[in-house]
Amino acid sequence: MQTVLFHSTIYGPIHSRRLGMSLGINLMPNDGKICSFDCLYCEAGFNAQGPGKDGVPSREAVKKQLRRKLMEMKEAGQTLDVITFSGNGEPTLHPEFDKVVDDVLRLRTEFFPDAKVSVLSNSTMAGKPAVAKALLKVDNNILKLDSAIPHTFIAINRPVSPNCLPEGVIADLKRFDGQCIVQTIMLRGEFEGKHFDNTTDEELDALLKAYQEIKPREIMLYSIDRKTPADNLEKISKEELQRIAERFRKAGIKVQVNA
Ligand code: SF4
Repeated sequence: MQTVLFHSTIYGPIHSRRLGMSLGINLMPNDGKICSFDCLYCEAGFNAQGPGKDGVPSREAVKKQLRRKLMEMKEAGQTLDVITFSGNGEPTLHPEFDKVVDDVLRLRTEFFPDAKVSVLSNSTMAGKPAVAKALLKVDNNILKLDSAIPHTFIAINRPVSPNCLPEGVIADLKRFDGQCIVQTIMLRGEFEGKHFDNTTDEELDALLKAYQEIKPREIMLYSIDRKTPADNLEKISKEELQRIAERFRKAGIKVQVNA
């Protein structure tokens, strides 16, 4: 299936089902993808498409482009709920991620003080002190954990490093001391002859245990919404997501369903 790359560093604003009116920041190249995961459901496509030729934008370029866009939006009387780091890969892989976060927080306060700043991250860099410190400064650090069971985690997220396993991710997220939101996509399907399903009792019990250890502010559960690079993925219905959410809520976890 065809997927879509963002072709600019600042994109939108677009309406996000999870975040409201959102202006996006893509810290990865405009003509390729760079990520420490290679998820079967990635809306930016597989890593095999390559990183492109443009490279990542400099801190100065991000600052300049964001200032220009926020100024335009303010002059046009537009509203803004959130500035969201997302895009063609993992934003925390940007070499100056922490400094970019400081710039974005300053610009937000200057132009849209009521807007939130969110980072959608796959959690793989959350153990790096500078990245963790920056993630703790934003309003919503939304950190991915799709499975707490290694073979499913590997099947769905396909980490680039063989050393990246759920145990390490959970340990890193525990260090946020509850100051994080965990996002989990619910997914069943088959890829290259291997079946995976993170909605089984065993998977949900393992996720619940991980959530209870991490103690996040809340969990965001969602399902695939747009085109995915792998074909045989099943979209989990809103009703099933609600049933799964209820199971976690009964154990005292705050859950938001985005479907
Ligand atoms: S972590 Fe995000 S950007 Fe990276 S492959 Fe997965 S969905 Fe795509």
